[in-house]
Amino acid sequence: MTKNGILCVNDETRVNLDPKKSDLLGVNFVSHAHTDHLPSKNGGTILSSIETSEIAELRGFTMENNVESLENFSLIDSGHILGARGLLFDDIFYTGDICTRNRGFLLGAKIPKCKTLITECTFGLSEFVFPSIDKIKKQVNELISGLYGKGVPVILMGYQLGKAQTITQLFGHWGPLYLHDSVKEMNLLHQKFGISLPDGIGHSEAEKSGLLEKKPWLMVAPMMSSKNKFIQEMKSKYGAVTIGFSGWAQSTKFSFGRRTDYSIPMSDHCDFNELVDMVIQSGAEKVYTIHGFVNEFSEHLRKIGINSQPLVENTLDDFTL
Ligand SMILES: [Zn+2]
Ligand SMILES: [Zn+2]
Repeated sequence: MTKNGILCVNDETRVNLDPKKSDLLGVNFVSHAHTDHLPSKNGGTILSSIETSEIAELRGFTMENNVESLENFSLIDSGHILGARGLLFDDIFYTGDICTRNRGFLLGAKIPKCKTLITECTFGLSEFVFPSIDKIKKQVNELISGLYGKGVPVILMGYQLGKAQTITQLFGHWGPLYLHDSVKEMNLLHQKFGISLPDGIGHSEAEKSGLLEKKPWLMVAPMMSSKNKFIQEMKSKYGAVTIGFSGWAQSTKFSFGRRTDYSIPMSDHCDFNELVDMVIQSGAEKVYTIHGFVNEFSEHLRKIGINSQPLVENTLDDFTL
């Protein structure tokens, strides 16, 4: 683990996994287009899916020297967001961000066999066990139905890239559907890639033409604080109620639940049990943990007899395999 991220070196190749700055030497793998995984600088060859490079472009980062495939490297669908991939090379599998659960248009990852696994563990604590999508759909549909019955407009909130599209697909049948402009832009790019999402009117246009006066309505918006001006306006003008979608809603220790009127534990990451299952399925002899509860999850793996250690920044200067 270097300051620039994970660097794997063998005789012939240098492989940078989600580097902060794309390295001139070797291969730079960008797993997906969430900003914490996108490099801030070009350099060398970037290996990523076509969807990832187009979403990155929309978010203001143009990848130079981008390739979608390279000999000896397999990109594995990681089921996290559109275009998200893990990387399999030299018996090593790097998960990027990963989810093995089907959610709407996103299909859970199929885990390849490997000797060394480098896995994220965002929700690597045993308290994080998420309900099934069917259960979530039922709960949220009941909630919206109750609010609609009282003429109350509803704002569903989730990350602009990933969650917002899943929410649009799962609950967009509650009309009229409005989309925060930033969500609309991202939805359009998904539709361009063939993802079927219901169309909605952008919030600026809806407000301008007075459509929001006619209640109830449903809006999909990015995650925002309750102090956010837009949310406060939607609440004071239209009496809107907010429902937030996040894996953190599962925990009583983390404050997420207090940001929205209702919170639903839905995530684009594996929950604790899914992480453990994934590690077992991979058959890995050595598991390195990154992102999230790296110490706790590693400790749990050791307890069940799996050789594991966290990859913490600066523990090793160059991570040589
Ligand atoms: Zn991500
Ligand atoms: Zn991430």
